[in-house]
This record gives sequence, C-alpha cells and structure tokens, in this order.
Amino acid sequence: MSATAVTATAPATTPVTAPADTEQVVLPVLGADVRVPLVTGGETEYAALDYAASAPALKRVWDDVAAYAPYYGSVHRGAGYLSQLSTELFESARRTVGDFLGCREGDQVVFTRSTTDSLNLLAAALPADCEVFVFETEHHASLLPWRGAQVTFLDAPRTPEQALRTLDAALAARRAGTPALVCVTGASNVTGELWPVRELAATAHAHGARIVLDAAQLAPHRPVDIARLDVDWVAFSGHKLYAPFGAGVLAGRADWLREAEPYLAGGGASRKVARRADGGVDVEWQEGPARHEAGSPNVIGAHAVASACRALTEAGFGQLVAREEQLVARLRAGLAGVPEVRVLSLFGDAAPRVGVVSFVVAGWNSSHFAAALSAEYGIGVRDGLFCAHPLVRTLLGAEPGDQGECGAPEAAPGERSLNAIRVSFGAGTPDEHIDRFVRAVTELVRDGARWTYRTEDGRCVPDPATAR
Ligand code: PMP
Repeated sequence: MSATAVTATAPATTPVTAPADTEQVVLPVLGADVRVPLVTGGETEYAALDYAASAPALKRVWDDVAAYAPYYGSVHRGAGYLSQLSTELFESARRTVGDFLGCREGDQVVFTRSTTDSLNLLAAALPADCEVFVFETEHHASLLPWRGAQVTFLDAPRTPEQALRTLDAALAARRAGTPALVCVTGASNVTGELWPVRELAATAHAHGARIVLDAAQLAPHRPVDIARLDVDWVAFSGHKLYAPFGAGVLAGRADWLREAEPYLAGGGASRKVARRADGGVDVEWQEGPARHEAGSPNVIGAHAVASACRALTEAGFGQLVAREEQLVARLRAGLAGVPEVRVLSLFGDAAPRVGVVSFVVAGWNSSHFAAALSAEYGIGVRDGLFCAHPLVRTLLGAEPGDQGECGAPEAAPGERSLNAIRVSFGAGTPDEHIDRFVRAVTELVRDGARWTYRTEDGRCVPDPATAR
C-alpha cells in the first residue's frame, strides 16, 4: 500500500475559520468553562493565566487527536494498515512542523519530549572542543545542558544592543578555529521580552559560531522562521504550544546531528546490528532524524504538535499578535494603576514583549499573593523563580545567598521580595480573565486578603480554619 493511499484515508483535521477581527481571535481551548471553588464561598470560571508553564490544549488539537486515536498503531515497524497510516501521520507531522518553522532544504526535524530534551540532545551532539556561550538570563533548560562543554556565561544585558555587544566581545575573545554554539531564548519566560534573535544570529555567524534558538515561549506567540532568523536550530515544546501530549521539537542543521552518537541507543535509531566474531556487536546507526528518536515514537504527541502548528497558521499570527498586544497593554495599564506593583523588566517599559508579565507587590510575599489570587478569585498564576533563578534574582536585586521560596517572611513595604508572581496568557484567553486579574490585584493590594494562609509542604495554602 502506498503512502498516498494511506494519507487519503487518514482522519481529516478540523478546519479553522480565520476570524474577521482581533476582538474575536480567541481560539477555543479545553477547560474554558471549568469552574473552581472559592475559599470565600461559591465558585467561578477558572482563569488559566499560567500559559507560560503549560498552555491549555486547543480544542482543535484535541479533536484531531480524538479523530486519529482509533487509527493508532505502531510507527516504523508494523506491516498492518494502521501501522502504515500511523507512520505516514508521524512523518507528515514532521513535514508540517518543518513548514511551520520555515525549515531550509536539508534541515531535520527531530521529535523529542520537550524543549529541555531538545537542548540536551543538541548538547550531546556538540562537536569536540565546542565552546558554548549563553546569557545568564536564560531559562535553566538553556543554561544547564552544556555541562560537558566549555561554557561562557554572559552577564545580563540591560538593552538588546548591549546583548549584541556582549556576545560580539565574547565571541571575538574565543579560541580561533574551534566550533562554538550560542544558545539564546526568543522570548523570556520571566519578562516576556523579545530578544534580538536575528541580530544575535548574525553576530554568532560573523564569528563562525552556530546559534540555537530556545523558542519555548516564542513559538506560541510569534511566527518562528528558521531561515529568516538565520538560526541553526530551534527548540520548542508542544505543551506550551497548545498540544500537551508529550512531544517537543528540535529542528535545524543536519550535520552535527548526523555526526553525533545517537542521543538514545536502541531500536529505531539503528539500521543494522550484528554480532562480531569476537563476541561484540556492530551497529550501523540511522542518519536522519530517526538516529535520535530511538524507541517507539510518540505519534500522538507529534500529531498534536502538527495540529497546533496548522491551527495557529490558519488563525493567522497577524491577528493573534494584534489581539495579544491589546491584552498585554490592558494588563500593563491595569498594573500601572497600582503603585505597590513593580513589573520586572530587563529591557525597559518600551521593549516589545509577549503575553508574559512578572511582578512583585510591595509588602507581600509573592507566594501568599498568588495563593490569594487562586483561592479568592479563581485565577491560576505562578509564583517563584520560574526556572530562571539568576535572571529573577538579578531583577529582584537579590543578595548572594537570598533564597526565594514560599513561606519566606512577608516583605515589609519597601523591602525586597525574594520571589515573584508571573501572569501569562495566549490565544485562548478572554478579556474577562485579564480584567478579573487586574481587579483582583487592585483589591488585594487595597483591602488585603479576605482569608488567612499558611505554608504546607512548601506551598502557601488557605488555612481551612480561619477567615480573616
Ligand atoms: N525555555 C523556556 C524559555 C521556557 O520557558 C521553558 C519552560 N518554562 C523551557 C525552556 C523548558 O520547557 P520544557 O519544560 O517544556 O522542557
């Protein structure tokens, strides 16, 4: 049976109609009507404002997964019809993701578990003597995988131009003639600020270095075009792109990946395995993406990622960005009306940013504040250091040795907070969630919490015994 015959029978994907104006560009997501109890009595619709951690599944993605589920079969090995269909679906997902990212001729799309997994895969594929350059402001997934290499951590820049100058100077000072890799995030998971990716790529290339883009926060909010940005690799996670089925992506240049030992050794990554006369085993490894995809692939995850790519493309980033910018402006204007709130920023107020905003509130422990938003208003945000400890500590002006955690004593007015609160949103967020959030912040700061909270297992939780 030909692949074409299989594709013809594959479950159709749900069409998405592009909305006419930005007011209507709220993509349907699962959980939009979930109601949660309030500690003060009654219940409310849950306001999911933690998209930067994990975004809700697009309904379109869920429908596509459900349509495929009865046809689920093994990938790359079964002789049966459903195995062939699943194999074709997996490979067509790879093509869809490649198109979504604007991959160049010869680029590879490798399915991984997540951004963390993708960057660890690339770290395992670095050529010998490769130097790595990474800003200290990165998420830990970009900061930490390079332990086997010689890593230069670059100081936090306070403007995009300073980022370029810092990188330029560091690369100019490096050993000549050895391979180098720059790892940079496209949009900060703490401040939401956009980094000058194209310019950083040009700087890296001018010094003969390669660059990988951590697009975990960028891809859900902005088009990522690998050729236009001229980056060598892109990594992102399905669960932040409205496709929470356990798949991530590393896409880009094939050469380092082809030369490297397989990330995982096992079936699928190996083409031929034979016993040697001396009792050992000879292995011939695959050369394409399969080299780094040993084991049974996550076909549902890959299908879900491809479905999300199609949904975002069809909805149109122009419209999605316009609407998100309206929400960012509305939220920031609301927070600006509360003098006790300090929004964290590396590049300043005017910097372009995605729907991710972190802040501290004078006189409040951030974990206490986040707990009150949840318990009293049904709003889900995140508190802490957001897996970007050096960046958040820099932004908070922390002293060495400061530990930000839930249960830290409440900061008195004017005191430094040790952790922060992050609100983040995206294509499924209705205006009401942003408005409720701004109202909640305003009321909590003005009136205080209506309940008391205590620390349990390292988390702030409402104290069941007491209303304030
Ligand atoms: N990079 C950035 C910028 C992130 O925000 C995150 C997740 N918070 C990651 C990498 C890691 O993503 P994952 O947990 O899906 O591997």
